[in-house]
Amino acid sequence: MSEPAAPAATGDFIRDLIARDNEAGTFAGRVQTRFPPEPNGYLHIGHAKAICVDFGIADDFAGVCNLRLDDTNPDTEEQEFGDAILADLAWLGFTPPEPVRHASDYFDQLYLWAEHLVENGLAYVDEQDAETISAGRGGYGQEGVASPYRDRSPEENLDLLRRMRDGEFEDNSKVLRAKIDMNAENMQLRDPVMYRIRRRHHHRTGDRWCLYPTYDWAHGQSDAIEGVTHSLCTLEFDSHRPLYDWYLEHLPLPGDRPRQTEFARLELTHTITSKRRLARLVADGVVDGWDDPRMPTLRGLRRRGYPAKAIRDFCAYIGVTRTNSRHSIELLESFVRRELNLTAQRRMAVLRPLKLVLTNWPTDAVGRPVVEEVEVVNNPENPADGTRSVPFSGELWIERDDFAADPPPKFFRLSPGREVRLRGAYFVTCTDVVTDDAGDVVEVRATYDPASQGGNSPDGRKVKSTMHWVSAAHAVDASVALYDRLFTAEAPGEATGDSFDDLNPNSVELIADAKLEPALADTPPGEVVQFERLGYFAHDPRTPLLFHRTVGLKDEWANIQKRQGR
Ligand code: ATP
Ligand code: MG
Repeated sequence: MSEPAAPAATGDFIRDLIARDNEAGTFAGRVQTRFPPEPNGYLHIGHAKAICVDFGIADDFAGVCNLRLDDTNPDTEEQEFGDAILADLAWLGFTPPEPVRHASDYFDQLYLWAEHLVENGLAYVDEQDAETISAGRGGYGQEGVASPYRDRSPEENLDLLRRMRDGEFEDNSKVLRAKIDMNAENMQLRDPVMYRIRRRHHHRTGDRWCLYPTYDWAHGQSDAIEGVTHSLCTLEFDSHRPLYDWYLEHLPLPGDRPRQTEFARLELTHTITSKRRLARLVADGVVDGWDDPRMPTLRGLRRRGYPAKAIRDFCAYIGVTRTNSRHSIELLESFVRRELNLTAQRRMAVLRPLKLVLTNWPTDAVGRPVVEEVEVVNNPENPADGTRSVPFSGELWIERDDFAADPPPKFFRLSPGREVRLRGAYFVTCTDVVTDDAGDVVEVRATYDPASQGGNSPDGRKVKSTMHWVSAAHAVDASVALYDRLFTAEAPGEATGDSFDDLNPNSVELIADAKLEPALADTPPGEVVQFERLGYFAHDPRTPLLFHRTVGLKDEWANIQKRQGR
C-alpha cells in the first residue's frame, strides 16, 4: 500500500507521563500546556509540530493550552509577527483561549521575584562586561571564575538593582545574575544572567522598562504565573531544565510548580527550520518573502496549496519522540496528496502548449467551427461534486510532451498515424505535422472519429493513451510556477556548515503561457485544483491566474519506501 497508514492517536511518552500524573493526582488532575513562540518571525512547519503537541495534548486531556508570545527581546520583535502568529495558528486549526498571553504581561511580577532572589542572597549585580562574564563561565571540564562582584551584600544588590530599573546606569553596564554555582557541570547553572540594561522601545510596554529579562529568567516563571502544569519544549532546552527548576524552587509561587518535558524537533529533508536562517533567505532575496511558496513557513505552505489538515495529519503520524531525526519531505507531500485527492476539483490545463488541428471538424452554416460542450467529472473521488461542461472544437491545445514526431519505444501518446483519446471528447488520429524553418513541430494535424463521442470507443477498439486538452478559442491564459527543492542536499549545510551552500539555483520555473480550460478562471483565490495528469495547483491568493504547483501526482514516498525495501 503506497499511502501512509491513517494517523494513530496512540499514547506517546508525554501522554503516558501525563496519564501517570493524573493517576497519581499530581497537579490535581489538571493539564495545562502553552505554545510560546517568540514574535520575531513567522511560524514554520517545525512550529506546526510543537502546536499539534501542545494544543493536541491539552485537548486530549480536557486541559488548556495558552498561546504565549515570548516577547522578551525588543530588538527583534514586532507586533506584525505576533499578529501573523495568531492568524497562522487559526489557519492551522487552533484557537487559543482569550486573551493571548505575553511574557511582557509578567515583567512586573518577574521584577518583584528578582528582588526576592536578591534579598535572599540568590542573585547579584555584576559589572563585568559580557566577554568577561562569558570567559569567567569557563567550559566543560574547566572551572569557572567567580566575579569580583559575586559577594556583594543583599542590601547593596537591592539598591543597585532598583537603580538599574530606574535607568541610572548605561546600557550593558551591569547585569543581574543568579547566584548558583560557578563550578556546576551544567553551564546553564554557572550564574546565568537574568536581566540586561537596554533602552529599547518595546512594542507593548513602550519605554517603561530599560531592564529586559533573559529567556530563562522569563520562561518558567511565566509558566508558573499562568498555571501551566506541563511545559513542553524541544530537546535543545534539555540542559536548561535544571535552571528552570532552580528558579521555581527558590520563588514563592502562587500554585504548583510546572514541569518541563522535552521532545524532538521536527526536521525535514531538503528543508531548514531555523527562523534566523529563514529570515536570511528573505533578506538576501533568495525567496520572494516569508510566504514564498518554497518557504517551509505556514504562510509559504498555505500559498503553495498545502491543506492545514494534511499538515496536522502528518504531525499526528510522526508523533512525539525523544530522538531527533529528519523526516522525508516526501512523507509530508504524501499527506498533502492524499488530502487533495479527496478534495481538489479536476480541471484541464496545458502547461507547454502545442496546437492540434482537427481537419475534419465540422463548421456551422456561416463557416465557423462548431463548438461542442463535453461533460467531464469534477472529482471521481466525490460524486457529489458532479460534472461540468468544457467547450471542445476543432483547434485545441495539447501538451508538447504528449506528441512525438519520432516516438521512442513505449511512447503511447500522439505520434504520426497513432490514435489516442482526448479525455471526455473523441478519439483522434494524427495525420500530419507542420514544422517551422528550424524543423520544430509547430502544429499537429489529426482527424477525429465522430462515432467516438464522449471519448468512448465506437467498436471496442482500444487506444493506449488518454490525453488532456484545452479548446484554443476558449483557452484562458495563465502563469504557472513549478517548484523544485529549495535545497539540493537532504540535510542542508551538513557538508560545509552553511545551509546556503546547498541552495538549489533552479528551485522555481515560471511558465508564462499556460492554457487553461475556461472554468479555471473562476477558481477562488487560494483554492487548490488538480490539473489532470499534471499535479495539484494552488491559485495564488493575490495574483489572479497565477498557479503554484503544490505537489505532483506521483507518490514519491511509495518509491522511497520500495527502494528501502519496506
Ligand atoms: P528558531 O530556532 O527557528 O528561531 P525557536 O525555537 O527559537 O525556533 P520559538 O518561536 O522560540 O522558535 O519556538 C516556539 C516553540 O516552537 C518552542 O517551544 C520551540 O521548541 C518550538 N519549535 C521551534 N522549532 C521547532 C521545530 N523545528 N520542531 C518542533 N518544535 C519547534
Ligand atoms: Mg527561540
